[in-house]
Amino acid sequence: MAELFIPTDHEIFQIKPGYRTGLPVMIGVHSTVLGPAVGGLRIKHYDDSATAISDVLRLSQAMTVKAAAIDNGTGGGKTVVPLPSGFTLTPQIKEAILLDVADQVHSLDGTYHVAPDVGTGPADIDIIRRRTPFAGGYSKEAGGAGGTTFGTYVGVDTAIRATVGSVLQKTSMKGLRVSIVGLGGIGTLLAKDYAKEGAILTVADIDQSRKALAEEIGAKWVTPEEAMLESCDVLAPCALGGVLTHEIVPQLSAHIICGAANNQLTNEDIADALLARNIVYVPDFIANAGGVMYATGIELHHRTEQGSEKHTRDGIKRNVELVLDVSKTDKISTHVAAVDLALTRLKAASSHVSQR
Ligand code: NAD
Repeated sequence: MAELFIPTDHEIFQIKPGYRTGLPVMIGVHSTVLGPAVGGLRIKHYDDSATAISDVLRLSQAMTVKAAAIDNGTGGGKTVVPLPSGFTLTPQIKEAILLDVADQVHSLDGTYHVAPDVGTGPADIDIIRRRTPFAGGYSKEAGGAGGTTFGTYVGVDTAIRATVGSVLQKTSMKGLRVSIVGLGGIGTLLAKDYAKEGAILTVADIDQSRKALAEEIGAKWVTPEEAMLESCDVLAPCALGGVLTHEIVPQLSAHIICGAANNQLTNEDIADALLARNIVYVPDFIANAGGVMYATGIELHHRTEQGSEKHTRDGIKRNVELVLDVSKTDKISTHVAAVDLALTRLKAASSHVSQR
């Protein structure tokens, strides 16, 4: 049984049974100080309720920090619908869950906008939008950003290039050794780009069918464990979180770590261990913030696709350079520098709100 972590600083935390399914809908609105809370809907199996509750609270808080760090005019929220183990999710039940979530989100009156996350995509958000306008990351056919994958790729690519420029003084990926762990939506886009540009690529995925892509783009195919330890200029974790542990840090042979996966550090002090080894780690919530930036850029801030991509690239580049600069000057880890950046922006906005 997971230990239950209940922070007390959420504006809203509610668990209500869905009207149609009876399944619990857990919604956390951590902060609306900077704007409406935005955060994904996670529909997945959980072993116990405590883990699901921890997820909704922890992830909504993390969304506040991410949104503050990118100055996005949005706050942090999250929804989790935990499926009991052994529960079979049919298309009919999924639609009923989505409509239950939609009704509950709508009752919050715009305080919170739901988006895709694990187990949900743009087509699911289209269903939610039948009952509430407070939903983002919907399909292009419906006039939306078409999910968050493209924006997240844009952000991670920008973060990698900004770090390569700052640390290695290179303006192109040509000749750089890049190791990508996870060839899903984002890892694939990065791998194809860098192969075209002449990078020397190593790639890995637990899904053996992805080996065909490695062959197509001339990348070395290895196991995920080997890819993590590959001697390279850039290591891009694009599969799961929790990959940077105290055990692995001494074995790493990368100059820069920058990828899409959430919560890459198993513990915050691992950022110090990376600093001590002179490995430049770009905090995940800085590198992977492009999805929410790009989608809200189009859907909430009404930018064009090109305008939103430019805004995303400019914002991520500025943040990465700032975090690397503060880390170097103050001799603190990039993780601490990034959290400080987010909290400073949040405090400035809070005092602005309280003075109104
Ligand atoms: P995805 O599901 O399309 O791809 C993930 C890939 O990782 C899959 O191909 C899967 O087979 C592979 N994988 C799973 N476990 C693995 C392991 N142990 N070792 C190696 N490969 C493994 O996901 P994505 O959209 O490409 O996102 C990549 C990561 O970035 C995920 O962790 C996701 O949570 C995170 N992220 C995504 C977004 C987004 O908008 N898509 C935003 C923020 C963070």
